[in-house]
Amino acid sequence: MFQNLSERLEAVYKKLKGRGKLKESDVDEALREIRVALIEADVSLPVIKDFLAQVREKSIGQEILKSLTPGHQMVKIVNDELEGLLGDEVSPIRFSDQPPTVIMMVGLQGSGKTTTVGKLARLWKKEGKNVLLVPADVYRPAAIEQLNTLGRDLEIDVFDAGDEKDPVAICTQAVQQAKKELRYAVILDTAGRQQIDEALMDEVRRIKEKVEPHEVLFVADSMMGQQAADIAKSFQDAVGIDGVVLTKMDGDARGGAALSIKNVTGKPIKYIGTGEKLDALEPFHPDRIVSRILGMGDVMSLIDKAEQAYDLEQREELGRKVKKNAFDLEDFRDQLLQFRKMGSMQELLGMIPGAGKMLKGVQIDDNAFVRVEAIINSMTPHERAHHNLINGSRKRRIANGSGTNVNEVNKLLKQFAQMKKMMKKMSSGKMGRFNPGSML
Ligand code: GDP
Repeated sequence: MFQNLSERLEAVYKKLKGRGKLKESDVDEALREIRVALIEADVSLPVIKDFLAQVREKSIGQEILKSLTPGHQMVKIVNDELEGLLGDEVSPIRFSDQPPTVIMMVGLQGSGKTTTVGKLARLWKKEGKNVLLVPADVYRPAAIEQLNTLGRDLEIDVFDAGDEKDPVAICTQAVQQAKKELRYAVILDTAGRQQIDEALMDEVRRIKEKVEPHEVLFVADSMMGQQAADIAKSFQDAVGIDGVVLTKMDGDARGGAALSIKNVTGKPIKYIGTGEKLDALEPFHPDRIVSRILGMGDVMSLIDKAEQAYDLEQREELGRKVKKNAFDLEDFRDQLLQFRKMGSMQELLGMIPGAGKMLKGVQIDDNAFVRVEAIINSMTPHERAHHNLINGSRKRRIANGSGTNVNEVNKLLKQFAQMKKMMKKMSSGKMGRFNPGSML
């Protein structure tokens, strides 16, 4: 995400920060470089123009040029303005006081609409909310099937339209059913086309008028850059939207869509999709994204991920085991699995300040986790509970069973013994913070 812009801006910042004094011409030179950076990021031109005008006006203010650290001040202005482009704060979905909350998803075909429906439904189901999914793309049986499959996988109900072929009728009936069933939310997966056309807009508009959704979410593919912002604007003008979900951020190195959409449509980005899997959805935090752009990592997102992966009960249970010195290899393996659920090492490290830059080009081997798990899986339960019993012949058997070698088994056992020693020393109940990744 934003790698290129990040690199470009870093170069500009480096030059600026080194300066004791700034002249107006220095500011203009920096602005020229920032302009190139934003164009490369595929930010929409009017947005760039506005942005640079704002930064210029603030940067050549008397106080700043006279201050002792004008370079730093200008960097701060650029950062603040970037944050302004992305939005001021998190914009959550507004759930209605009178359920069901009706959410209508709109967007072009292939933008990730159906996948996002699944991601949102999964999220809300985890929060104990009772959701109904509605396939309203009557033109593509495959799209209806896709939603049904998602519903089956997630164990979330999908509305059955029977023979009804009119999307407006389908959505209306589904909302009525959801009311009767006291559902918390209904998500309407409307049809998309390859490109905007009047028939599509008309259909979306008619559904909106009839069902009066609480939220219309426009789903945009971030890889389309500023074009995504233009399409969002068309939907905003023709139908009216309340917010945007920006998908495929995991593959978007430029960031032009994210930086343009709010300015162009006046509507906030509410969520970002960061992968094909159903847990790859994050609320959009403008401030955190800005710190990502600046290569400062994203510690807050990391903490969120950790909290999702380790719930309170698990942490307490772990604390109890550690206290009783009963933490064994099986617990260790479970911890590794939890840790891996948070994402790949590369992704996690990228969120740590400074690590992104340091690790550029370094490939982190996620297979190291897999090997450790395989070794533990090849042990008998008795061995997992009593690692001291594992002698030479057992080690050979475990190495063979896990497709590793005795050295690797030894290494794991040694590290595990050290960890046990450390745990013993540590004061009670604080082991929720321990990080099995540090073992590798
Ligand atoms: P729809 O036609 O708008 O309903 O789009 P789909 O939900 O079928 O998604 C189109 C493709 O984009 C599928 O291959 C999805 O797996 C993929 N996709 C959706 N969201 C994301 C995302 O956040 N990241 C990545 N990498 N792929 C995504």
